[in-house]
Amino acid sequence: MNLKNLLQKYLPFMILLSVIFGILAGFIFEESIGSAAWMGVIFMNALKMVIVPLIVSSLIMGMYRLGDVRKMGKTGVRTIFFYMTTMAIAVSIGLVLSNIIQPGEGIAETPSMSERKLPEGGYSFLNVILGIVPSNIFSAFTEGRILSIIFFSILFGGVLTTIGEKGKVLVDFFSGVEEVMIKIVFLILFVSPLGIFGLVAGQIANSGGVDNFLQDLWMIRFYVLNVVIGLLIHSLIVLPLLIRIFARRNPFTYLADLFPAVAVAFSTASSSATLPVTMDCATRSGKISRKTSGFVLPLGATINMDGTALYEAAAAMFIAQMAGIELDLTQQFIVFLTATLAAIGAAGIPEAGLVTMLLVLQAVNLPSEGIVFLLTVDWFLDRCRTAVNVWGDASVAAVIDHSMGSVKS
Ligand code: ASP
Repeated sequence: MNLKNLLQKYLPFMILLSVIFGILAGFIFEESIGSAAWMGVIFMNALKMVIVPLIVSSLIMGMYRLGDVRKMGKTGVRTIFFYMTTMAIAVSIGLVLSNIIQPGEGIAETPSMSERKLPEGGYSFLNVILGIVPSNIFSAFTEGRILSIIFFSILFGGVLTTIGEKGKVLVDFFSGVEEVMIKIVFLILFVSPLGIFGLVAGQIANSGGVDNFLQDLWMIRFYVLNVVIGLLIHSLIVLPLLIRIFARRNPFTYLADLFPAVAVAFSTASSSATLPVTMDCATRSGKISRKTSGFVLPLGATINMDGTALYEAAAAMFIAQMAGIELDLTQQFIVFLTATLAAIGAAGIPEAGLVTMLLVLQAVNLPSEGIVFLLTVDWFLDRCRTAVNVWGDASVAAVIDHSMGSVKS
């Protein structure tokens, strides 16, 4: 058996072990395991290193392979439709569960909580929209502004299909870049168990002391349970049903194919950093065509966030209940809309959802200070929701791939 097959076979198992050992090492050795965190930093940097060239080459080639721009329009509309629908379902699950569990009832502020700081930075949905068209594409590249990069690459790839022979050298160039990037991702995956171990152990060691974390976790346990149960329902019932019905394949073998990506999402808390791995697993193990994955997954990593959408709604409801504010149906509908927008607007980076949640809180006049209650446990929920974000992207990729296949035949 060659190296590639060996890796494909044992990687998920090694990744699972590295998450488990990372958690155990963090709890046992506490701060001193911080000395292993460098492995995680290198791993994270390596993933970020390939994001821009990978997105650019695969989107340009994805557009080129689609060929006909009209086909592209249909695929684009379908993709956005499934992204919006799955996020809407996720938000609804968050709202319904919060109404049933009522996690914020009877929680009083403690002195240790009021000392914590609110996350910095304002947020405006308009800025996200305005940022789509970059005034300088090179600064968009260097700053890693993914929506701008996606916009430019789609435009570039689309126009490339219209210039015939003159574009041949560019097509060869970008297909070469794409091929090289895919190989580099494969190499990075090879060392991922070490990186994942470093990230998980380092985070647990830094989570403000195990006692502090467990104490806060216990106090807001119903909120944490609310989010985790919601995420489980969405990822193990809703998304599998979607895959079964619209992609006509076994959702759980597909989930097993995607397991390395889900684990990397959990350990990096960033869907953007996970994107190279998501694309690798979806195409190599999940047998999604590159044409689909090159278009659907980069877009999904930035705009489709099922886990974040669910969390935004659940967290806003929790803060309202804690402040003793009853949200009526109309206000809950506003939460529904703004939570979806906040999830679309959140970048695929750690804790982005916490900042965009200010939008939801402002919309229904909830105290933004409520966020401080969520801070100590948010690193954990961030990881869980990022894993669901990535699984959500991959699920829609399966659906779109199936529909493109049926268009072809
Ligand atoms: N960390 C999440 C992601 O990258 C975004 C969030 O904070 O919810 O998908």
